Amino acid sequence: MPAQPTATASAAPISDRPPVSLRVSGLRVGYRVEQGHLRAVDGVDLEVNPGESLGLVGESGCGKSTVGKAILRLLPEDARVEGRVLLDGDDVLRMSARQLRQIRWTKLALVTQSAMNALDPVYRIGDQIAESIVAHEDLDRRQAWRRAEELFTLVGIPQERLRDYPHQFSGGMRQRAVIAMALSLNAGLLLADEPTTALDSIMQDQVLAQIQRLQRELSRSMILVTHDIAVVAETCEKVAVMYAGRITESGPTAAVLATPYHPYTMGLRNAFPTIDGDRRELISIPGNLPNLLDPPTGCRFASRCPFSTDHCREVDPPLIEVGPGHLSACHYPDQAAAFRDRAAQRSTWTTDPGGG
Ligand code: SF4
Repeated sequence: MPAQPTATASAAPISDRPPVSLRVSGLRVGYRVEQGHLRAVDGVDLEVNPGESLGLVGESGCGKSTVGKAILRLLPEDARVEGRVLLDGDDVLRMSARQLRQIRWTKLALVTQSAMNALDPVYRIGDQIAESIVAHEDLDRRQAWRRAEELFTLVGIPQERLRDYPHQFSGGMRQRAVIAMALSLNAGLLLADEPTTALDSIMQDQVLAQIQRLQRELSRSMILVTHDIAVVAETCEKVAVMYAGRITESGPTAAVLATPYHPYTMGLRNAFPTIDGDRRELISIPGNLPNLLDPPTGCRFASRCPFSTDHCREVDPPLIEVGPGHLSACHYPDQAAAFRDRAAQRSTWTTDPGGG
């Protein structure tokens, strides 16, 4: 490793590279497996305007991480991907390997679940960040080191800790170092996939607060992939709720969580007690995701929905607008207020669905 530059090197500040826009339309991801064709993502549309933050939320296996990986072109070779992923108008799914290398980290950056995997244990953290900057930008090592110092200050880690190795950091500090690394090349869109799952709740709050502050201060666009709707409530302006490979509800976070129109969102909302200062009973949604090798006809949530009818099991509900920018895929938007009242009661989720 080269000698450590000093703090007197000329500054190479984080530049004002503009945030990017992302339009995902008709995204489908399938895999051929022994038992047939698995439709992991089945027609997803998403929109992130420059500087906006979108939370992509749903339970494990709903397809949210697959959407994230498809946007970054990080899916395995055997994945069959259809649709469009427009990053500032250019389709990521149709880019050559060279074009992809150009946009990775400079337009699109990833913060992963496991910070330890993103950091090489045998190199000092500052060297890893500086090397990555030197490799991608026309800066010398001193300037790159200076930017690494600036980034550490931004994420709340003392600059002298740049000389430490990953094992000398706590879990929360490692995760913040990974965020600094993701920000190091000024990517216009940050994709954070369960960035706080491995952390305890105090660290989770701190890291989320950092991500939110940085996204706003540096006006980056962001997609936060998480199973935890409370995290989205704290962090994102917009939310898209996924169930069984599809978006079931989306819109401004405040509107979707205050007045959900889809019973699945109503159920998710019960999983945490105080979204809007109300005391809410903790209730989980019984049942499992449907088999994506053979998805059911009609509404995919019908087998777990306390309000399902025969019509739900026969006809697939389309996403329809229920408020400004607020979409929901449920046949009964006019009954949403009554559903919300019933969904807040534990007994609603413990009786067999299908009573209508
Ligand atoms: S369409 Fe029917 S089953 Fe699906 S969420 Fe609405 S009420 Fe429930």
